[in-house]
Amino acid sequence: MVKLGIVGAAGRMGRCVVQAAQVAVDRVRVTTAVEAVDSPAIGADVGALAGIGAIEVPVTDTLQGADFDVLVDFTHPSATVEHAAFCRDAGRRMVVGTTGLDAEQRRCIEQAADSIAVVLAPNMSVGVNLCFRLAEMAAKTFGDEVDIEIVEAHHRHKVDAPSGTALRLGEVVASALGRDLDDCAVYARQGQTGQRSRETIGFATIRAGDIVGEHTVLFAAEGERVEITHRASSRLTFAHGAVRAALWLAERDRGLYDMQDVLGLG
Ligand code: NAD
Repeated sequence: MVKLGIVGAAGRMGRCVVQAAQVAVDRVRVTTAVEAVDSPAIGADVGALAGIGAIEVPVTDTLQGADFDVLVDFTHPSATVEHAAFCRDAGRRMVVGTTGLDAEQRRCIEQAADSIAVVLAPNMSVGVNLCFRLAEMAAKTFGDEVDIEIVEAHHRHKVDAPSGTALRLGEVVASALGRDLDDCAVYARQGQTGQRSRETIGFATIRAGDIVGEHTVLFAAEGERVEITHRASSRLTFAHGAVRAALWLAERDRGLYDMQDVLGLG
């Protein structure tokens, strides 16, 4: 039985992870639920919060003294870095779903993974991770003969853009074509942009309503185009992926992994 700690336990994803853990109740148990110090959820039962009924795990405001094997983190980049330092010092494994980490914050996670096992994945859904492979295959097949654009849509509460998944799709495609995304990404167009140059990878972002998450990679040639699209209709899909990652991690001691590793797509 893997003991799961959840940080950001009262958040949209945190509550879904509690629900997903309930589905895998024969293999995983939520033993720790932590929220930000100013959260109104402190003291509440995390099962009741998640709508599955009380599980006698109160939400607290600290990881100190907590009992868990793997920490699942869907919070905020600055908090994630602190949680990674805690897990490194305490020798606990970690699943990081938080997106929007900058290079320095990512380095902190990589450093932690020298000592502990970490899964870092901007998107934990099986379908999206399959799309990473399909996009790689399409990029290799089309080569430099197509224009490539990545379009993503999310709910109005999302705070980072483009999404971590869109950026990852960009990295996968750029690397399949021997390009560096930092050099070829175009994140905005307005006014007299001039003609599109073929080697760029364009991004477009939509933020609206309650869209859970949609991504399309578009490969447009003269005379035909291929679109690889993923649409998430429920956050539970990411939460099931996070629980699957936690179970997979329980068998590993150290190293940085992603969902491709967890799903055997690597
Ligand atoms: P949310 O705002 O609903 O939840 C975040 C929670 O973290 C909040 O309840 C907040 O109080 C809590 N929090 C903040 N600082 C904390 C701290 N120091 N300690 C404990 N808790 C703290 O956001 P969300 O929609 O659940 O998304 C959270 C993150 O997960 C975002 O970065 C989002 O982009 C990402 N996300 C990733 C995936 C994936 O598959 N990897 C899927 C969905 C969302």
